[in-house]
Amino acid sequence: EAGCGAAPPILKELRLQCATPLPLLRRVADAMAADMRAGLAADGAGELKMIPSYVYSLPTGNETGLFYALDLGGTNFRVLRVQLGGKDKRVVGTEFEQVSIPKEIMHGTTEELFDFIADRLSAFVAKEGGDFHLAEGRNREIGFTFSFPVKQTSIDSGILIKWTKGFAVSGTAGKDVVACLNAAMERQGLDMRVSALVNDTVGTLAGAHYWDDDVMVAVILGTGTNACYIERTEVIPKLQHLGLGAGNTIINTEWGAFSDNLPLTEFDRAMDIESINPGEQIFEKTISGMYLGEIVRRVLVKMAQVSDLFGHSFPNKLAEPFVLRTPHLCAMQQDNSEDLGQVKSIMHDIVDVNLSSLAARRVIIEVSDCIIKRGGRLAGAGIAGILQKMEDNTKGLIRRRKVVAMDGGLYENYPQYRVYMLEAMAELLGPRDSEDVVVEHTKDGSGIGAALLAAVNSKYA
Ligand code: ADP
Repeated sequence: EAGCGAAPPILKELRLQCATPLPLLRRVADAMAADMRAGLAADGAGELKMIPSYVYSLPTGNETGLFYALDLGGTNFRVLRVQLGGKDKRVVGTEFEQVSIPKEIMHGTTEELFDFIADRLSAFVAKEGGDFHLAEGRNREIGFTFSFPVKQTSIDSGILIKWTKGFAVSGTAGKDVVACLNAAMERQGLDMRVSALVNDTVGTLAGAHYWDDDVMVAVILGTGTNACYIERTEVIPKLQHLGLGAGNTIINTEWGAFSDNLPLTEFDRAMDIESINPGEQIFEKTISGMYLGEIVRRVLVKMAQVSDLFGHSFPNKLAEPFVLRTPHLCAMQQDNSEDLGQVKSIMHDIVDVNLSSLAARRVIIEVSDCIIKRGGRLAGAGIAGILQKMEDNTKGLIRRRKVVAMDGGLYENYPQYRVYMLEAMAELLGPRDSEDVVVEHTKDGSGIGAALLAAVNSKYA
């Protein structure tokens, strides 16, 4: 068909460079497992930080009482309360509220930020009633999900390394964020203390494990990506000085930093160089929602430059970084019509591109599919790598059900991505091990997970 010019050779090359055949996936999974071992041996020994969570007991279901959670990780924070009824009743009730953080607070001082949070939290606490009762003689306790880089020093303390994601609050780096929040709650006259500081993946794992104790891994595939899993304390060399003995703990892998053996293209390299963190988070930049649309846009820019795929003049809107977003790719890939009318209208509305020929619309779908397939299959290889590392402990001799709790908008909303991920896992695990592994979607489990970890680490427990 006419209208594509030099685009097909670029597509052909892209397909080759993004290919993820089984031997490549095996190398990725092996490298992930090897990097996990290195990170458990010593800080800085591998690309994965393998951060200890200081969680040594998971919720059992016997927890009772009223607990709160606070989730700070973006431009909104969420507060939640949960009434736990123990073995048979489990979660008696939950209520939550979302508060958006004004720009001036994100650029203000530490006291201003934490006073703002404590003030809204206090207003939320004031509305407690109905199913929610604080036991006589107790103070309220809260699990704090804090999704910024912290150097955790115990279950209820952690020092902020640096703000990310648009936060530029002065004076917090180097301080214990739990102490900051406790002090603000005190200034507010709020009778509440933080009993657990948790990463969002750790909260997701704890929350999912509460309902199903075969949950051993939690993965987030949203704007960014991360994973954590349950590890035996005695196989973590860098924790041996704590003298913990035999038991389980949760390790936050920070797997977004992984980069070994990934099939990358010129488009990935250029995106990385122009990013705010060049050379960092390469796995995240290859598999997560923030970047997939942008990689596709970069391929299309090249096609527009060297072919007449989009007509004779270059569509200027296409030159704007991040205009084409992963949800747009997703909407285009759901177009099952014969004339791909949805592809035409999205490309027109978003980047001002007029796709007059059907062949050109097909090229867009093929490019998207290449990038989505690579992302999904590599995410699957990462999960297989974690499961492989966990097999070290049993030498593969013990068969048991293993559940991977999955959260995040990319996994939830992109059916093709999900299928590619699951296919790669099935190929890598083989029929026998695939039977034992279940991926379960858990929506917003991290809030309740944090409240449950507050209950487990309660000073009254
Ligand atoms: P976050 O990761 O920002 O905490 P989510 O888990 O909700 O939040 O993930 C949001 C991300 O999910 C978006 O950045 C986007 O990449 C992806 N996403 C959201 N909606 C869709 C969709 N309809 N199709 C594909 N991807 C989507």
